[in-house]
Amino acid sequence: MPNTAKITDCRAISHAFLALHQKDGFEILEPSSLLHPSVHTAFVMSAGLVQIENELAQIIEQTGGKFAFTQPCFRYFDMDLVGKDSIHSSLFHMPAAFYIGSSQRANILPRLWHFLTKTLQLRIDKLWITYLDDPILGVDQQTLDCWKNIGIDTDRLIGLERQHNFWQQRELGQIASDGKKCGPHSEVFYERTEVNCVQCEASSAFIGSCACGRFVEISNSLFIENYIDEQGQLIRADTVFSECVIGAERLAMIQQNVATVHGIAKYSHWRAILQNYFSHQNSPQYYHAMHIIMDHLNAFMHLVADGAPKPGRGGQARIMRKLARGAITQALLWDIDINKLLSLLLSKYNHTHAEYKPEQSLQRLYDELSRFECTLKRAKKQMQKMLQHSVLTEEIKQELQQKWGLPPLLSEKFYATLSTET
Ligand SMILES: [Zn+2]
Repeated sequence: MPNTAKITDCRAISHAFLALHQKDGFEILEPSSLLHPSVHTAFVMSAGLVQIENELAQIIEQTGGKFAFTQPCFRYFDMDLVGKDSIHSSLFHMPAAFYIGSSQRANILPRLWHFLTKTLQLRIDKLWITYLDDPILGVDQQTLDCWKNIGIDTDRLIGLERQHNFWQQRELGQIASDGKKCGPHSEVFYERTEVNCVQCEASSAFIGSCACGRFVEISNSLFIENYIDEQGQLIRADTVFSECVIGAERLAMIQQNVATVHGIAKYSHWRAILQNYFSHQNSPQYYHAMHIIMDHLNAFMHLVADGAPKPGRGGQARIMRKLARGAITQALLWDIDINKLLSLLLSKYNHTHAEYKPEQSLQRLYDELSRFECTLKRAKKQMQKMLQHSVLTEEIKQELQQKWGLPPLLSEKFYATLSTET
């Protein structure tokens, strides 16, 4: 690949990352589905440990322990952050490289640095690197030395405590877990100097802890060398490994010089449609709504293609419902014809994912919309009853949400219309 053209597209970034690893002897594997029989209540959330843990022996035999793939990740617990900051999506892509049997930093970090600064041509003076420096666990000296050997200035290397730079496998939500793996990790942040934040401008100590979006985490490299027991003691693992991941959408955002992950080219068709609907609004608040609609519908379609159940109660169905109703709620808040909007968006879906099923997704969204409309009708009636002798309090809002399925944002909207009608 010629090194002159800037790589900006999400898929091109992912491809370049995999190609670089392939050149160095990593086997390229297919990503795995976000549905797995052992995770009933949610979707698979790890950035690729699934593959390792389920079929480790077979994969090592097939690849010699060096492999890479681009894993779609869906994090339902990040859904509420969407639209509130510039860097969170519920569904995103993580190109990842694994090296089973080695936690040598020199096998991972120099290649990553080459990728970021030569392949993607990121400016070195925009990059910051974190490593473990903890009062109890000590300094991750191997990582620090490796970054110094690469030639990174020490003032760009930020030592952080274990809550930032020590990864520990969670007990729940993982698959075929054979213990609590753990190890230090090292993150690379890109500084967007155009994002004004008094706190972050004053000190790089806020890397990783400020939500302003000035520092964007673009990569993470984990060196898993231990298990941790019930007493918190570290036990050397029989098999050590390294994992290096990058955030494709975040890097695309930086390469395309746009303000948010929902502003990247992948969403341009959808943005154009939504801009039309929102252009008459005179409040910039609508960006928030646009981003939620794009994010949730994108995740919904991906999960449908992966075989997710219809929106409903409990487990995965509940998450599908939350995605559908989250997007619909935004459209209702802004008085948008949701039927028309859904059909426009899903017919203009600009994605080459071979198995995306826009018709099936659209049908499920329509079905969910009519169920939601019934819910809203009942909730509205109930709300009128409850408000005969009261104003809309937080308690009433909560009750309407929990017992009657009315999102608080819509109870406020209905309340405003009720008060103007009377
Ligand atoms: Zn900040």
